[in-house]
Amino acid sequence: MPDLTEAVVNLAKRRGFVFPSSEIYGGFRSTWDYGPLGVLLKRNVMEAWWRAMVQERDDIVGLDAAILMAPKVWEASGHLATFSDPLVDCRKCKERWRADQIGDTCPNCGSKDLTEARPFHLMFKTHVGPVEDEGATAYLRPETAQGIFVNFANVLQTSRKKPPFGIAQQGKSFRNEITPGNFIFRTREFEQMEMEFFVPPADGQKWFEYWCEERLRWYVDLGIPADKLRLRHHDPEELSHYSTGTADVEFAYPWGWGELEGVANRTDYDLTQHSKFSGERLEYYDQAANERYVPHVIEPAAGVGRSMMAFLLAAYDEDEVGGEKRVVLRLHKKLAPYKVAVLPLSKKDTLTPTAREVLGLVQKHFMADYDETQSIGRRYRRQDEAGTPFCVTVDFESIDDRAVTIRDRDTLAQERVPIDGLVEELRARLA
Ligand code: ATP
Repeated sequence: MPDLTEAVVNLAKRRGFVFPSSEIYGGFRSTWDYGPLGVLLKRNVMEAWWRAMVQERDDIVGLDAAILMAPKVWEASGHLATFSDPLVDCRKCKERWRADQIGDTCPNCGSKDLTEARPFHLMFKTHVGPVEDEGATAYLRPETAQGIFVNFANVLQTSRKKPPFGIAQQGKSFRNEITPGNFIFRTREFEQMEMEFFVPPADGQKWFEYWCEERLRWYVDLGIPADKLRLRHHDPEELSHYSTGTADVEFAYPWGWGELEGVANRTDYDLTQHSKFSGERLEYYDQAANERYVPHVIEPAAGVGRSMMAFLLAAYDEDEVGGEKRVVLRLHKKLAPYKVAVLPLSKKDTLTPTAREVLGLVQKHFMADYDETQSIGRRYRRQDEAGTPFCVTVDFESIDDRAVTIRDRDTLAQERVPIDGLVEELRARLA
């Protein structure tokens, strides 16, 4: 599909997945709001991650740290000194670019008359409290990871976990990106899903490889075709100052391969730095071996917006039903915003009580939509576009035979089932 990005962006806006932020004021600098369908998809992505990383394991626990942290954190982590991108200005058209993304030519006007690259700091700075002096400076976190490192000792003590174990966290991060873009792929405010896995130093490489495979598999399990994913290992000169190995999980976006998630071996860098700057011991005492060590850290760090974009792109499909073009989002049922739509065949009042009764039953178990406007065909299309796996149609016979019809988004097969067994039937199909 040549204009896949455009088709997905249009669908996302038209159907209420994503709105430009502050749209009535003309929008605001590549920030986006998630609408009724988008917030459901976003939560489902985050829930699927939490399930895989925390719920279905006994070696990872969760955390929810504050966005604002002691400024010392960013000194210790190295962000204050080094968290910048190389910025160049085009002298001809005055556009600004990230030097590492454009080479020696301005993508806007083609001029080669660019300034020397200079570092542009990516952290948002603000003030805490009523006085705007240096002592009140604070930063919006550019990654959630540091909240995990500074809580390492707290979690170790209270959870009684021991290496290898992980701490997982989801939350907002902020970077003053020079060139945000590609819809929700790169924004200045974004949501991350990060996990720091603490291991004995000798096991770092083994766990790095484990998490590369594990994270790649997560996307495949949620419906992204394996041939649209790859693991790209960084060259030595590309590595961050703290890392001995990094691999990106990349997705074949319509504009080329792009990072979905980075898996990094951060060694003992962060714990050692925070230990130095805070004066607290951040290590693990292995009683059995009578040995103290600073664990090494493997970090899979994913972005919610980027994966939503990938899930939408991979799910978008067009086909023909009854001689009519249909747009369908073949989202994995775990990710689909609505699992079920309850549709009374017509808007006639006689159907309403039964249809409402069915909605009430279903709603307790699954996120459900209810739609009684327009023709049934139009309503099926609307649900197909939203990725709803199953429609449940209530017709005039339903009142007497207490049965409804389930329609499958992908096979289009329709099957009549008793209202009594409907929840169980849907549960089995959604499992
Ligand atoms: P890039 O090279 O694309 O700027 P990065 O290597 O700086 O990304 P990391 O620091 O590894 O990104 O962040 C981990 C994850 O957080 C990324 O894989 C991505 O999913 C997400 N992420 C980072 N920056 C942004 C952003 N500006 N907008 C949306 N998601 C982001």
